[in-house]
Amino acid sequence: MSAVFFQVICDVPVAVSATGIFDYLPPLNMPESSAESWVGRAVLVDFGRQTLVGLVVGLSEHSDVPVQKLKRVKAAVPFVPLADAAWLDLIRFISKYYLRGLGEVALPALPIALRNGRGLLFDEACGTVSLRTGQAAWKKWQKIQHQPAPLQLAQPLQLTQTQTDVLKALHTDERRTQLLFGVTGSGKTEVYLQYLAEILSRDADSQVLILVPEINLTPQFSLRLVERFGADAVVTLHSKLTESVRLLNFWRAASGHARVILGTRLAVLTMLPHLKAIVVDEEHDASYRQMEGVRYSARDVAIYRAHQLKIPIVLGSATPSLETWHNARSGRYGLHRLAQRAVSGSVLPTVQLIDVQKNAVQDGISNTVRNALDRAMNARQTSLLFQNRRGYAPVLYCGHCGYVHDCSACSAHFVYHQTTRRLHCHHCGRDERVPSVCAKCGNADMLPVGQGTQRLEESVKKSWPNAVVRRVDADTTRKKGELEEVLADISAGVVDVVIGTQMLAKGHDWAHLTTVGVLDVDSGLFAQDYRAPERLFALMQQVIGRAGRGQVAGHVYIQTGFVEHPLWGSILGHDYEGYANDELAVREQLGLPPFSAHALLHVAAANIKLALGFANEVRLLAIQLIDENPEFASMTVNAAVPMNMVRVNQLERAQMLIESPSRARLQAFAPLLQAAILAQKSRLNWLLEIDPAEI
Ligand code: ADP
Ligand code: ZN
Repeated sequence: MSAVFFQVICDVPVAVSATGIFDYLPPLNMPESSAESWVGRAVLVDFGRQTLVGLVVGLSEHSDVPVQKLKRVKAAVPFVPLADAAWLDLIRFISKYYLRGLGEVALPALPIALRNGRGLLFDEACGTVSLRTGQAAWKKWQKIQHQPAPLQLAQPLQLTQTQTDVLKALHTDERRTQLLFGVTGSGKTEVYLQYLAEILSRDADSQVLILVPEINLTPQFSLRLVERFGADAVVTLHSKLTESVRLLNFWRAASGHARVILGTRLAVLTMLPHLKAIVVDEEHDASYRQMEGVRYSARDVAIYRAHQLKIPIVLGSATPSLETWHNARSGRYGLHRLAQRAVSGSVLPTVQLIDVQKNAVQDGISNTVRNALDRAMNARQTSLLFQNRRGYAPVLYCGHCGYVHDCSACSAHFVYHQTTRRLHCHHCGRDERVPSVCAKCGNADMLPVGQGTQRLEESVKKSWPNAVVRRVDADTTRKKGELEEVLADISAGVVDVVIGTQMLAKGHDWAHLTTVGVLDVDSGLFAQDYRAPERLFALMQQVIGRAGRGQVAGHVYIQTGFVEHPLWGSILGHDYEGYANDELAVREQLGLPPFSAHALLHVAAANIKLALGFANEVRLLAIQLIDENPEFASMTVNAAVPMNMVRVNQLERAQMLIESPSRARLQAFAPLLQAAILAQKSRLNWLLEIDPAEI
């Protein structure tokens, strides 16, 4: 009789185990014949001093670890559906592509209550596991029929001719990935819905996944989905759900019960046994990039998932990412255009640049914008003031000695928040009481300098005392329900002026919003990162796209100190294609993505010297690898440099960029380099990021 070992993946960093796979003995009393049935199951295991949840990914007859050292799987965790082979394949792909452990990728796809030993109770005597919290959710789930929910299809909108043509083309085009390139307000959502309705009605169990970039877009979208497909069929998944809702929605999705899954980036990893199509709305959005833990792009993972399952995927945007545009232009992706707004009579708004050197500006708002706000209020329309900086003032400054209050842990100024009367660091989260006198010279005259959303709100309320003003930023929407409430008010048309950061700029569809003032985005014109212009262009089209979506024409005013900057020309002309083609030509000339691929080493240490020192050691390792392997000769290893913002949360950070003319080459190189770095056994905090979002 041969022994059987369980290969279990646990959420541990690559520095602990490069593969993330650990051998365990089967649970006590397991009949050997049932071993196969454990593959894909979640199990409770002892790991060091902790109890962890892991997933069985395979069986083996050998283990490199002596049997007497191996521990036994304690029990199966019955609250996690069986991971099927396709899902495990997806996890393997992400783990390999982004150079992270299997468990690091897989376990975060489960609700937190199911992913660590703390959320679960183990009964030693009977060898069973129960839920510590979440029993209420489990009871609810037990009452639901564990079968695919039937659809309750409602009447769709009558499509415009262009929408009809595009819908037809989406169904007939044989390419796996389709770009739906439609201006803001062109009715992409309705096209998605009818496209998905058709796919859903082909089988009684089919599931579809819709990704949106921001949590704040889910309430409105989810309402439309529920209207169209019925409440039973639709679930929402994002990180701000309460634990019990998250659990219930996870079970509904992962068991195959829910048919339409709407979610933010984390939803792309959900187990979906009958997935038949994916839609990625606003596919260009930087929020699809996971910036903590495994740094994956949810859009790219979605494209891979569709490829793996041989199912179609639709990417939608008014301003596609240049990677996507490049693929659409070259014919690799299908390309479908919606060039007009869907609502008849609705046209793209006029856009005007306001030169803040010449136009009188008071409290950050120019006279032209003030007049426009007056007109909108008189006509009972809603206005949006876009200010992409939260807090009251970004700097607290001593009028006497010039001292500025900086965060003690970061190379960043403290931001003054009037609402809490404290100084907040937006990078590490520290906050402090506002000092009554300057810490350096004792002068009592501390001045808030610059403008954030709180200060703007104050000045708008001062100028228009009778106006209904709502500020929407991360600070006003932290508590549960706050965001839904303010979005409902805006939808109802009872708000005169909305003040918002970029979380409000995307996707929303408010018919009575006619006037938009963009107050300060000049820093985006001169940012270092090569993607900064692309991002500013997309952001501006999004902000502009909020205006005039109903029958009344919209007007957008952009305040800038640099009216001559060439980027404004293409923004004013709503000319995405012209802009994208020019920008791609520049990228090609400079050998930047999508004409090359990047990997970025991040190192964080107690001081920058240490960080740079290690980054340079890695640089030498990379150069050595290239010297030893002629196929890597075309790679470029750049010098290690301090990061733009050197210090965050008491760590100083360096980075080193590796460039490759081909993605395949980088894919071959990166794991070798990672292995060489791991062999150094450095105690420093480091990470090799593939396709970095910023360099
Ligand atoms: P996008 O996602 O392209 O920015 P939306 O899908 O939000 O645009 O559509 C913009 C507006 O047009 C919405 O209010 C939507 O209800 C409306 N709309 C879309 N298609 C149609 C149609 N065929 N007939 C009438 N109104 C439509
Ligand atoms: Zn800080």
